[in-house]
Amino acid sequence: MWKKPRLWLVGCSYSNIEQLLSGLLPTYEEDVVKMEDVLYDVAVVGGGPAGLACAIYTGRAKLKTVVLDRSPSGGSLARATKISNYPGVKGPIPGAELLQTMRDQALSFGCEYRKTAVVAVDLHSDPKSLYATDGVFRARTVLIATGSRGRADKIEGEEEFLGRGVGYCATCDAAFYQGKVVAVTGCDETAAEEALLVARFARQVYLVCPKSELAIPAHFLHELEKASNVDVVLGASPRRIVGEQFVNGLVVRVRAEGEKTIPVDGVFMLLSGTAPVTDFLGGSVQLSSDGCIIVDCNQATNVPGVYAAGDVTCIHPRQAIIAAAEGVIAALQIDKYIRGAETVKPDYT
Ligand SMILES: Cc1cc2nc3c(=O)[nH]c(=O)nc-3n(C[C@H](O)[C@H](O)[C@H](O)COP(=O)(O)OP(=O)(O)OC[C@H]3O[C@@H](n4cnc5c(N)ncnc54)[C@H](O)[C@@H]3O)c2cc1C
Repeated sequence: MWKKPRLWLVGCSYSNIEQLLSGLLPTYEEDVVKMEDVLYDVAVVGGGPAGLACAIYTGRAKLKTVVLDRSPSGGSLARATKISNYPGVKGPIPGAELLQTMRDQALSFGCEYRKTAVVAVDLHSDPKSLYATDGVFRARTVLIATGSRGRADKIEGEEEFLGRGVGYCATCDAAFYQGKVVAVTGCDETAAEEALLVARFARQVYLVCPKSELAIPAHFLHELEKASNVDVVLGASPRRIVGEQFVNGLVVRVRAEGEKTIPVDGVFMLLSGTAPVTDFLGGSVQLSSDGCIIVDCNQATNVPGVYAAGDVTCIHPRQAIIAAAEGVIAALQIDKYIRGAETVKPDYT
């Protein structure tokens, strides 16, 4: 029997948030995403060094572990072009290559890796539920390792038109834009992927990137070129979202040209920044005044069975090895939590 959970949603423009919260969750479950049958011991949100280090340890400890990762190229390490200071790895190597090795290692210990974004959580239930773009995942414990590539500041109109043309998750909401004109803001693989998804429904899509070039793999560039209804607008910084009852334009500032308005029916905001990524938590774990997840020396949050590691905790300095170390501390505590044990026993073999 489906129990209406206490959940928080982010991203999905969630005008449907009201529907979801007013008891239509079975519709969400049946029509949009599939409820996974599997109960995991550990769900790791984020596939950077913190999340993957945790998964390597929990997988090796034979805990059933799934890594839910928005994008293998979306995190900080994935964007680092040269890494030379990760112990045991003679660099320089691209961060993405180091990550691939970590992912392979986690898979070799039986972990599952799912490329999916978590958009909402119910962390107070038992088991805990994670609402992702391709399914609902249930787990006894959760590690939050989503890094710090979130945007700290919203632009004018973003809050005002949320759910009325502004969204953060095209996978959730693209179908609402059948035959419409939509802007997707961002310069990375996630933005490109979401723009291509929206293009299946929308008449016209503008991929608006403030930088002079997109930071995406070649095959995405090729797909964007092939899509006849996608235009890439480079060097354009989103300034305001305008409209009346619903969005009708995105005001951008273009270098040397000044401000201009792109007439659109919807805007997906996928720009990244340097803030901890916690929006999908909707306040269900305690954050510091800077928006960082507060953890104790065991990486435990204030919610039993929920841990956090890496840049999302604002550990200083932000380094891959430090994020990975936090992930390992969390893994050992998770093992202890699940076994109901008093002590942590590291495996030296
Ligand atoms: C340009 C650059 C260069 C750097 N150079 C170095 C260096 O030389 N040496 C060094 O040690 N460190 C370096 N760092 C820092 C290092 O990369 C970070 O400290 C480290 O990657 C943090 O790891 P993390 O796992 O916490 O987060 P990240 O590596 O940012 O990974 C977070 C993951 O979470 C995923 N995610 C986010 N939101 C969601 C969601 N809602 N659902 C599912 N998944 C989600 C992302 O897709 C990503 O895969 C560099 C950072 C940058 C930006």
